[in-house]
Amino acid sequence: MIIDMHRHLWSLFERYPRAAEIARRGGAKEALVEDLPVVPDWEQTGRDLIKEMDESGIDISVIFMADYALRLGDGIFTAEGENRIHVELMKRYPDRIIAYFGIDPRRKGAADSFETAVTEWGVRGLKMHPTVGYFPHDRAAYPLYEICQSKGLPVTFHTGPMPSPLFSRYTQPLHFDEVAADFPDMTIVMAHAGQELWPEALNVARMKPNIILELSMWQPKFKFLSEFLFAIDRMRDTIGIERITWGSDFPGLRNVMPMKKWVDIFKQLPSLGEEHGFKFDDLDVQALMGGNAARILNL
Ligand SMILES: [Zn+2]
Repeated sequence: MIIDMHRHLWSLFERYPRAAEIARRGGAKEALVEDLPVVPDWEQTGRDLIKEMDESGIDISVIFMADYALRLGDGIFTAEGENRIHVELMKRYPDRIIAYFGIDPRRKGAADSFETAVTEWGVRGLKMHPTVGYFPHDRAAYPLYEICQSKGLPVTFHTGPMPSPLFSRYTQPLHFDEVAADFPDMTIVMAHAGQELWPEALNVARMKPNIILELSMWQPKFKFLSEFLFAIDRMRDTIGIERITWGSDFPGLRNVMPMKKWVDIFKQLPSLGEEHGFKFDDLDVQALMGGNAARILNL
């Protein structure tokens, strides 16, 4: 079973035209800044998502949105509306799609909204994007973590830098240590495993068994194949294969490689590893690509 632990319906730049404009001025590659109709057809987006999953051999995708509105202004949907679209797609494709709830904990009534989303809408986790301007250990977020911890739901955090006007420093790996210590029974998924700071992410995870390292957005690292393999090998050696999980962060990463290639790279980990002196077996692949995710998601 292959589970994509990190998937979006639309990229940051598609959702927030203002961020696209800033990225463009900052010299972002044109491919980063895709244009989207003012009112996207979310039903078609859902059908396209399932089609891409079928073509790439993905059984389940975990979909969620990051709430950037307090920093970037309104996106193409309200936060509530966009969360509802995710839930609606989960209802339409119950065997294929799992929805998390994305919210900025500084919003008024954030914990109540999340509680409603869990009990009435059936969301299966929480997505947080601290780059809008709060630390993961901001006390405003603690009521949301209480809900996650008491209901056994995972929380996925973005880690690593983001383009302006978002802030990078709030998601440096060390900032997840306090949350992991205060909520030892809550599963914390560090999306992108800290990116270039993956050794720091690993160092924090080493002493906090409730932290999972997630490998979405690692597509550009594949260029440096032996370093890529070294990192995964080092993670496995330090925290165990059961605490590393695969994801795509599509569609934003589609300009780096197609989904099928990203799936195939991980399926071929044993042979790729052999060429570069690293030993991976099929059990590693199964754990990385779905087994661990199934456990985290209580499937
Ligand atoms: Zn993402």
